[in-house]
Amino acid sequence: MSPYSAFALVLATVAVMEGVAWASHKWIMHGFGWAWHRDHHESHDKLLEKNDLFALFGAALSIGLFSAGSPLVAGAAAWEPATWMGLGVLVYGIIYTLVHDGLVHQRYFRWVPRGGYARRIVQAHKLHHATVGREGGVSFGFVVARRPETLKRELAAQRRAGTAILRDAADAAG
Ligand SMILES: [Zn+2]
Ligand SMILES: [Zn+2]
Repeated sequence: MSPYSAFALVLATVAVMEGVAWASHKWIMHGFGWAWHRDHHESHDKLLEKNDLFALFGAALSIGLFSAGSPLVAGAAAWEPATWMGLGVLVYGIIYTLVHDGLVHQRYFRWVPRGGYARRIVQAHKLHHATVGREGGVSFGFVVARRPETLKRELAAQRRAGTAILRDAADAAG
């Protein structure tokens, strides 16, 4: 592959991974995988969360793709594009942890953006944490974030429809 197509494939894979992360977060982590995601939505003082185990699936996907692209592992069946897709999954994993664990949850650095898209990402994910339990909720992506005003309107609509419990409402209820 030419360096240009390789680079384009890495970028495309990063973009696809945001979609994969959005869908897994919405349908798996807030679905049958809630038992692992739950502790991420509850306050605690532990260093690690069960939720961190989901990162292993991303790591396995990246390692699997690197293996499929490597003649050392896959021999004559090695498929070069898999290497660049594996790199894209790895790059997405790094972006995910910098944005979600670092920027939003301040697990290993503390920088509060005053404006711009970085601030919008933080606000959008804080609003993801505005609901209690696995039902409803907004902003399941990590890098692509809609405007906070839009998300707040959607949360209010979910509260009215009874499809989500909001944190402040839950606090008020005791
Ligand atoms: Zn969640
Ligand atoms: Zn979070």
